[in-house]
Amino acid sequence: MTGKQMVDKQMTDVAIVGGGMAGASLALLLAHHCPGLKVTLLERQSIAIEADELKLPSFDTRATAIAAGSLRIFDELGLWPELQKYAAPIRRVQVSDRGHSLGASLQAQREADASFAGMLGAVVENAALGPMLYRALAESAVDVWAPAEVAKVEMHLQGAHLEVQCDTQVTKLDTRLLVVADGADSALCRQLGIATEKVDYQQHALVTTVGLQRDHAGVAYERFTDRGPMALLPLPKRDGVHRAALVWTCENGSEQELAGLPEAEFLQRLQDSFGWRAGRIVRAGKVHSYPLTLSLAREQVRRGVALVGNSAHFLHPVAGQGFNLTLRDCETLARIIGREMAEKDANFAQSGPGELELMQHFWRERQQDQMLTIGFSDKVPSLFASRNLLVSGLRQLGLLGLALAPTTRAAFARQAAGIAR
Ligand SMILES: Cc1cc2nc3c(=O)[nH]c(=O)nc-3n(C[C@H](O)[C@H](O)[C@H](O)COP(=O)(O)OP(=O)(O)OC[C@H]3O[C@@H](n4cnc5c(N)ncnc54)[C@H](O)[C@@H]3O)c2cc1C
Repeated sequence: MTGKQMVDKQMTDVAIVGGGMAGASLALLLAHHCPGLKVTLLERQSIAIEADELKLPSFDTRATAIAAGSLRIFDELGLWPELQKYAAPIRRVQVSDRGHSLGASLQAQREADASFAGMLGAVVENAALGPMLYRALAESAVDVWAPAEVAKVEMHLQGAHLEVQCDTQVTKLDTRLLVVADGADSALCRQLGIATEKVDYQQHALVTTVGLQRDHAGVAYERFTDRGPMALLPLPKRDGVHRAALVWTCENGSEQELAGLPEAEFLQRLQDSFGWRAGRIVRAGKVHSYPLTLSLAREQVRRGVALVGNSAHFLHPVAGQGFNLTLRDCETLARIIGREMAEKDANFAQSGPGELELMQHFWRERQQDQMLTIGFSDKVPSLFASRNLLVSGLRQLGLLGLALAPTTRAAFARQAAGIAR
């Protein structure tokens, strides 16, 4: 708990449970759009931003491709100048297909001329994103409790009653809106009886940072192989080394063998699969693997409850959609509550941020984008397994490009849904 002496029972307007990318971003957005609202962010891990390192699942060794629309949201929060220090711009996406000589390329200026500063997006290492978000939280009106694990939740007419374990002490917290942001496989959803639908893709994503012999020049590479898609995302240069973030999809069972290879052998296998479009790949860091599933909560809102982030939807990561979708959800929720506060003014104190109508309004606004984005991500594995010519033609458009250019993505999602029927 940061700089606070806990008393037995506390009250808040919004309690966000889970301080990962979703929870921390929502807290900042609420502070921005809803001045005067009491927001409490509860995270079970301790947070030491002085060390510039956070031991939270969100802020591990991954890197995140942030689309231009999401950069605009960070800019609105005043965070773009800071984020820019750690981010590598994506100026072009180059798509190639193993077994086809032709490739495709998506340029920032041509395809997304309304984009943020002429970029399709930017890539930032999660390990840099986390401390940046928590530095901003420390300067905001948000109350950050960490380590603070929500052990028990009970809903009542006015909101939720939480039991929070902070070190050895249990504190009670009453909130008018409970935001569930405790990640995939959410214990809070289980407590609330919110079921989750799951699809196991039978694949893993191998993730690591690689060193390149030459400059990537802001190009994000995407390579389709028989085994699944690979992405090489530009990262800022460090200690004179040109770097990129690798996401390599592989079938279940081969992830341990690949991740355990000595560096030289791993590099050789990687170069064979990826080809030479990005030049020679000269270094590889520690390889981490993530099982690939789609998981979707059957309900995302109730009176006094909203779900955001992985607890609401956990997507196939190769298209780089999960956090971008979450940020759009969070921005909408904060904007709707802010507008309600301004319109109802004094009366807002009675109805509060968890009112059923408000929650349903939030869900209605987000449904279509979620349906398209989740539908699109779900089609990814089958598209890459397919040898159908039309499908392989669509593949040439590139997942990252589609992720970064929303209009094209929407059109693609409709087509992909038709193909997969
Ligand atoms: C390999 C990979 C690559 C990805 N790449 C991209 C990308 O390029 N672009 C993109 O947009 N998205 C990407 N994503 C998706 C992105 O990582 C997720 O959207 C993001 O991690 C969402 O995090 P979260 O905060 O919802 O969940 P989590 O990161 O799981 O955070 C949940 C937090 O809740 C805390 N917690 C849990 N239970 C409690 C409790 N009871 N009390 C208090 N705290 C609790 C946990 O400690 C944790 O810190 C990728 C995902 C993967 C797996």
